[in-house]
Amino acid sequence: ILIFILFISCATAFALVKYLNKNATPAETLRRAITNGEIVPFYQPVVNGREGTLCGVEVLARWKHPRSGYIPPALFIPLAEKSDLIIPLTQSLMRQVVTHMNVIAHRLPEGFHIGINVSAAHIASPDFVAECLKFKHSFNHPALNLVIEVTEREPLDVDEDLVQRLNTLHENGFVIALDDFGTGYSGLSYLQDLHIDYIKIDQSFVARVNAEQDSTRILDCVLDLARKLSLSIVAEGVETKEQLDYLNQNNITFLQGYYFYKPVNFQDLIKILLSKPKV
Ligand code: C2E
Ligand code: CA
Ligand code: CA
Ligand code: CA
Repeated sequence: ILIFILFISCATAFALVKYLNKNATPAETLRRAITNGEIVPFYQPVVNGREGTLCGVEVLARWKHPRSGYIPPALFIPLAEKSDLIIPLTQSLMRQVVTHMNVIAHRLPEGFHIGINVSAAHIASPDFVAECLKFKHSFNHPALNLVIEVTEREPLDVDEDLVQRLNTLHENGFVIALDDFGTGYSGLSYLQDLHIDYIKIDQSFVARVNAEQDSTRILDCVLDLARKLSLSIVAEGVETKEQLDYLNQNNITFLQGYYFYKPVNFQDLIKILLSKPKV
């Protein structure tokens, strides 16, 4: 009987430890969420502000939590980056994006852009280029533009290796975008080495623009910088007609923001695509 009691209490303790591990460490919880398919892609359309057409989407991660609803990426991407989960997380998103886009391939115009956010740690991993190529080859639609969005928010460690990886992707038809342009400024030195196809002006600069005269100053500087470096520009965070008009006046054609569309789930993306004539 003693042995039996000992056995039971050991088993209980073991189960408890397992339970605590599962539930106590955030990284383990996130790992399980990835495995369970709870990290899902949302899509935010990118529009041609002049023609009003859809030119692509940006994939934005959401944690579809069984109890808490949708959790925004700011709450789990930093954890994923710290705990090496960013690679399986991004791979899971890529697989879901392929499945989704293959369902609606016939609705996607030629040259449609699909932007994926990748973290620096992921780019540095040995299989990154191979993974991206596999991702590209999984699409049924032959003429999609896959965009690798590299953030400038965290200082990028630009060594020869990184330059080579991104340049290899570029040579293989990927589009390279520098995200959050103007927020990091580590960018300036490597813009010459990296083949950047376009930059995304951070929403904080667009958000300042209002009816007041001075409100465009910082945006003007960032736009000026981008132009002097001969970079194509996408503006993020367009929320008002004023901001749209200002960007239009400045010949910034590719726009993203709540003024047009919020990030939506796949079902709602289909509705948006169906409401637009295919161009
Ligand atoms: P980001 O790449 O700069 O993405 C744009 C963010 O701006 C998104 O926030 C989007 O929902 C938001 N946004 C778009 N239009 C507007 C607007 O008009 N007004 C305002 N106020 N916000 C707007 P979200 O989805 O919360 O993502 C935040 C950041 O998390 C992203 O910033 C990106 O850096 C990161 N992230 C998201 N998904 C992933 C991912 O799959 N992998 C990695 N590595 N990072 C991701
Ligand atoms: Ca982005
Ligand atoms: Ca951005
Ligand atoms: Ca941003």
